[in-house]
Amino acid sequence: MTHQLSLTLPPELAFDESAFREQALRHLSLPDTSDMVVRKRRQSIDARNRQVRVKVDAEVYAGNTPPPLIQYQRPQTDVSQSPQAIVVGAGPAGLFAALRLIELGIKPIVLERGSDVRARRRDLAAINKDHVVNPESNYCFGEGGAGTYSDGKLYTRSTKRGDVRRILEIFVAHGATEQILVDAHPHIGTNKLPNVVTELRESILNAGGEVRFNTKVTDLILTGSPTNPNELKGVVLANGEELTGIGVILATGHSARDIFQLLHKRSVRIEAKPFAMGVRIEHQQSLIDQFQYHRPTRGDYLPAASYSLVTQSRFKGVDRGVFSFCMCPGGFIVPAATAPGELVVNGMSPSRRDSQFANSGLVVAIADDDLRPYAEEGPLAGLALQQDLERWACKMGNSQGSIDSQTAPAQCVADFVDGRVSAGLLPTSYQPGLASVDMADVLPDHITQPLRQGLRDFGRKMRGYLSNEGQIIGVESRTSSPVRIPRDRDTCEHVTVRRLFPCGEGAGYAGGIVSAAMDGERCAEELVKLYSH
Ligand SMILES: Cc1cc2nc3c(=O)[nH]c(=O)nc-3n(C[C@H](O)[C@H](O)[C@H](O)COP(=O)(O)OP(=O)(O)OC[C@H]3O[C@@H](n4cnc5c(N)ncnc54)[C@H](O)[C@@H]3O)c2cc1C
Repeated sequence: MTHQLSLTLPPELAFDESAFREQALRHLSLPDTSDMVVRKRRQSIDARNRQVRVKVDAEVYAGNTPPPLIQYQRPQTDVSQSPQAIVVGAGPAGLFAALRLIELGIKPIVLERGSDVRARRRDLAAINKDHVVNPESNYCFGEGGAGTYSDGKLYTRSTKRGDVRRILEIFVAHGATEQILVDAHPHIGTNKLPNVVTELRESILNAGGEVRFNTKVTDLILTGSPTNPNELKGVVLANGEELTGIGVILATGHSARDIFQLLHKRSVRIEAKPFAMGVRIEHQQSLIDQFQYHRPTRGDYLPAASYSLVTQSRFKGVDRGVFSFCMCPGGFIVPAATAPGELVVNGMSPSRRDSQFANSGLVVAIADDDLRPYAEEGPLAGLALQQDLERWACKMGNSQGSIDSQTAPAQCVADFVDGRVSAGLLPTSYQPGLASVDMADVLPDHITQPLRQGLRDFGRKMRGYLSNEGQIIGVESRTSSPVRIPRDRDTCEHVTVRRLFPCGEGAGYAGGIVSAAMDGERCAEELVKLYSH
């Protein structure tokens, strides 16, 4: 017989598996015998009150065999002789598109400009230690995309866009911990993600698909007139090779500026899209734990605490959102530029989230007015603003050193709000190092002023947040794509170019690993519906 139960427990009883088993069986008045299987279904922390509690939904199978934990099975089919579709980009969108194409009987040819996930590690070490940015293989480019060396947070607000559970099951089937099916805020961790990504690739290869690394798409094979193309036949690679297919899923991410420029040059419609920019903020994790859990330390059972902050500020008569973004508890700040001479920061954390630091993006919405100086760039105006800021941040970080280093400009939080250069900076997780500057000289006024207002508000909400126990590090400029590649709402096909399926975060239809993966699946399904006959 199967029993359902829901318990609200202190962390030590919820997170210790044998203690939880005892609680569950006692609650149901069942004996603790070997034929009792206790399985958690969902687990969430409630830290709103002084006593932190964990709500756990579970099932107990009393004598009967539990059903399989996941329904999903890795592909068994062979598509090596099937019609082929091109997938550009091996990020979550591209990899999940490829897997879905296989399920639907189409052979995916996945083209990835960066290295495979192992070789990529060397390129990341080179950025962190030697400050050398390889423009083809870095924190954004390479197998697994921007999501590989990340926190691997797997929650999304885009639940209406697809089947989140299915995406999580696919991750589990490829080596991710089953815990992600249970936690309300699941994450995999940067140390575990590379193996999962390798397994995803293995599934594609075993089914007869192709994955090519160090293979950059540099042009498009279009028909129609040069100013009004109407169909995409295939792509051209950097070595001149041409590849065609029944359709092209373009999943190149928000950092593939050359792809946006190529589309614009080839008269394939793209549009400017709202986005946000700002800084990363770093505190000691213990400070965040104390505040969120209302106790001196988080103890042995609670995970590193996270936060999410949002407020409105007004600058030059325009209301702008100021918000925290991609918080990484127990994590590291990483250099995420994709070209030398640029400085971009982002965050990641290992599966145990056990570094001493907590970091989060803290960003301000960009308004139309801010883009006015870039008007001649048309739909690429946001991209030009983003690039200018990144280059300037690189110069400011390097004012005392080499012009091309990844040393990041930084300032203690209270000093930034009070307009004072910090006499000294705090220890940091950011490996390439920090330079103390006035961040108001790095950021434009339309970011500095709202950020100051936002920090005052956040300081009222979280004690210690606005103090010189935290520092801001710049710039967090790649929160989302500043460009959208418009597509039909239902078919996901580009609005004017047939057989082109703009996909994932770079196209403006996802914001994170799970939503990008769901979008990849959706584009694959729509491509097959339209062109597999
Ligand atoms: C450091 C960091 C931490 C992050 N942490 C999280 C997190 O914890 N949770 C979360 O949900 N999201 C996180 N994100 C965001 C997340 O990674 C992205 O939202 C997601 O990866 C987008 O998926 P995508 O497939 O659309 O694009 P991407 O992951 O950007 O993949 C695009 C791929 O296309 C390739 N490509 C680009 N141009 C070409 C070309 N011309 N030819 C061939 N290939 C090309 C790129 O090399 C890249 O591999 C993080 C991002 C970063 C950088």
